[in-house]
Amino acid sequence: MIKVAKFGGSSVANAAQFRKVKNIIDEDPARKFVVTSACGKESHEDHKITDLLYLCDAHIRYGVSVEPIFSLITEKYMRIKEELGLSIDLEYEFARIRSQMDYGMSQDYLVSRGEYLTARCLAEYLQADFVDAADVIIFHYDGDIDMERTADLLKQKCAGSKRVVIPGFYGAMPNGVIRVMSRGGSDITGSVIANIINADVYENWTDVSGFMVADPRIVKNPLRIPRITYSELRGMSYMGANVLHDDAVFPVKNKNIPINIRNTNDPSNPGTMIMNDCSEIDEKEPPHVLTGITGRKDYSVITIVKSHSSTEVGFLKRILEIFEEYHVSIESVPVTVDTFSVIVQTKAVETCIYEIIARIKKVIQPDDLKVEDRLALIAIVGRAMKSVPGISGRLLSEFGRNQINIKVINQSSDELSIVVGVENRDFEKAIRCIYDKFIKDEEKKA
Ligand code: ASP
Repeated sequence: MIKVAKFGGSSVANAAQFRKVKNIIDEDPARKFVVTSACGKESHEDHKITDLLYLCDAHIRYGVSVEPIFSLITEKYMRIKEELGLSIDLEYEFARIRSQMDYGMSQDYLVSRGEYLTARCLAEYLQADFVDAADVIIFHYDGDIDMERTADLLKQKCAGSKRVVIPGFYGAMPNGVIRVMSRGGSDITGSVIANIINADVYENWTDVSGFMVADPRIVKNPLRIPRITYSELRGMSYMGANVLHDDAVFPVKNKNIPINIRNTNDPSNPGTMIMNDCSEIDEKEPPHVLTGITGRKDYSVITIVKSHSSTEVGFLKRILEIFEEYHVSIESVPVTVDTFSVIVQTKAVETCIYEIIARIKKVIQPDDLKVEDRLALIAIVGRAMKSVPGISGRLLSEFGRNQINIKVINQSSDELSIVVGVENRDFEKAIRCIYDKFIKDEEKKA
């Protein structure tokens, strides 16, 4: 058994969190590959090290003194070192970074130091070997990870180690120059390593006990989702339920490696398992008809009416091209006879909506065109929905009973998700009402 355990920023925010990580690691010898983010926030008022490093970079560029911010960073690491009794020479490390700043270091190099230093401290504390991501995670020049070289180097550098700690979030270009991934990229580092070493499971340790069926800020004490498929997760995450970086899914999904989302602050909680296929376990423990409910407010609907357009070849394409011209990504395109709606995030069209309308009027010459804001979209996701008839019907009648007006409804053809559009002001009420109907009622019956 071999596991990759990735710890997010909140799991390594201070010495107390480091201790929790050590307990988790010591408890299971299969946790041989440890990946870490940079120290995150200790409290609401605190700052993530990565944010502070980006801020240092901005200060350098604008010629503003970096000292006040840089000292926040050094103090945090010094505190961790002292409280854990580490021997790492942080004075030397910081003096080196500080002097490089004066000679024009790259932004990527500077912000990667958060993960680098956190991993150095963690490796010493766990009595594990430190392996620098710059020596094993290699990018192609286009930014994709060179899996072959990364695999070779990883095997080479980790051979003979009982346990390694590798910083997440960065790697090196073929010429050795450090490059960082997009924000939250340590998830990708963990996933790539899990793929290469053929891990049995990729553990992603964070500050929540996996995914909840609904947002706990909306539904009181929602149930935890014990298992979810990768496809269901896509349906949830594109609407904002983001615990995991989107790009972290592909490397493990390809190899059928499950991801286990776990809570560093509650390690006995089994969290959520993300798998390609849950059917084997589902047979023994049937899942709820809905796996999760998620959504987002603030969409705009642009509705275009033009008679006989449904038989006009290329009509829809011409409309969509206009949105493409303005780089607006489209959420959904509900179509009925001669009426087309385009749903987009309101903030994506904030600065160009009048230009888009003018272009549609010119190109399509619609009979009518209207724009409505303040739409919320709610995705109801569930692999078990397929086998239960009448879900949409129950949903509609429940919304009717609660006087929630449905503006849009759309079911994916794989029957994995239903997306409903309601007014922003009904958003929370709608989520609560779906939860009560499909989860609470089922629980009561069970
Ligand atoms: N520290 C980086 C960030 O804050 C990467 C990560 O945490 O995964 O985005």
